[in-house]
Amino acid sequence: MAEINRAVKGTNDLLPDESHLRQFVEGKMLDTARLYGFREIRVPVFEHTEVFSRNVGDTTDVVQKEMYTFLDKGGRSITLRPELTAGVVRSAVEHGLVNGALPVKVCYIGGCYRYEKPQAGRLREFHQFGVECFGAASPAADAEVIALARQVLLGVGVEKISLEINSIGCPKCRAEYHKALKEYFSSREAELCSTCKERLERNPMRILDCKSPVCSEIAKGAPVVLDYLCDECSEHFEGVKAHLTAAGISFTVNPHIVRGLDYYTKTVFEFVSGDIGAQSTVCGGGRYDGLVKQMGGPEVAALGFGMGIERLMLLLKNQNTPMPEDTKCDLYIAPMGEKAALKATEICAKLRDDGFEAQTDICGRGLKAQMKYADKIGALYSVVLGDNELNGGICNLKCMSTGEIAEIKIKDISEALLEIKTKAALEELENSVF
Ligand code: ATP
Ligand code: MG
Repeated sequence: MAEINRAVKGTNDLLPDESHLRQFVEGKMLDTARLYGFREIRVPVFEHTEVFSRNVGDTTDVVQKEMYTFLDKGGRSITLRPELTAGVVRSAVEHGLVNGALPVKVCYIGGCYRYEKPQAGRLREFHQFGVECFGAASPAADAEVIALARQVLLGVGVEKISLEINSIGCPKCRAEYHKALKEYFSSREAELCSTCKERLERNPMRILDCKSPVCSEIAKGAPVVLDYLCDECSEHFEGVKAHLTAAGISFTVNPHIVRGLDYYTKTVFEFVSGDIGAQSTVCGGGRYDGLVKQMGGPEVAALGFGMGIERLMLLLKNQNTPMPEDTKCDLYIAPMGEKAALKATEICAKLRDDGFEAQTDICGRGLKAQMKYADKIGALYSVVLGDNELNGGICNLKCMSTGEIAEIKIKDISEALLEIKTKAALEELENSVF
């Protein structure tokens, strides 16, 4: 019997005491994307299997080994998305997004599913933040998308991260390169893994991305694609470098980056860090000029990236990046008795309308247990409501950290909290400025 109280291998729960960190990071992603004009798109978690097998490429590790594919009850072959680009392109073509004014810029955050060997930074359900830009063929677009990824990484506090770029050319120059690769790998065919033996005929470039130690050792001596670029691709790559330099972004050219998905053309890039162990790539992306057409749309240039959110969280943890604290309950109201409980409900309703986190007893507990709970949740202030308070219309607002008490009118609680918060915010501002 399946273990009903254990999560499936390779999946993670996001628990409430960590969710504010994810919200901070994801908020920064969408906010930063907006600065560049990217608007959110949401696409289904599953698609027809061909959306991935044809576009990610049927000789890639993702398609050959990692997809969650099943027949639904109507006999359709369905696949849980291993990445979002293919589904986003499907959507852009289906809804004609790429037929209007270009460029069209979209971004997303969503779960991805890959049947991989789980380890630090490698999960079977993980999440990606990504962007896709349609209809921009100029090198300025490559630099803009890279700048956005970098601004997100720096914005959440990543300190050391390097950008590596490469060009893997277009189908035109790649034909020559494939020939050279085939020649090189054929001489060592006997040593290749069985998957790569098959790739040798159909897509020798995929061997460069094989994770098997023998294949990756052999791949180190393989011809590099930069030596085979056509004039147009070389010129484009030079343009990307010039625009990156103009934006003040440093990079290194790594001729060994090929990326694990078949649809890439020209520019490919990765943001890598030595602080997350073997899974060093936090963000990977590039151009995929042929994909929109391949999916039945017009001939439209396109590019984007995917950033692994769990890997980014791991990097932030390993770099000891200072992160925002979670917000606390502004006021806990502890009622004693039925009448006070009704008053507490009334006050809480008003406070929440005014934007404060207010909590009161919903378990029917005594005063001592309630105060213990208020302590545990880290409530900033508390108020006890008993018959005296109700009769006099006055209560004691207690600061939980200092024990300080202020006598205020019950009807003025919201104003008092607002005053306290404004004062604290002003003090913080003053401290940060001076
Ligand atoms: P890798 O070489 O690490 O397998 P990839 O080339 O398969 O990565 P992409 O398909 O380009 O990765 O996905 C973009 C990003 O998504 C990666 O850079 C990484 O941060 C994240 N990612 C990919 N696979 C996983 C996974 N199994 N678990 C967690 N994050 C992942
Ligand atoms: Mg992979």
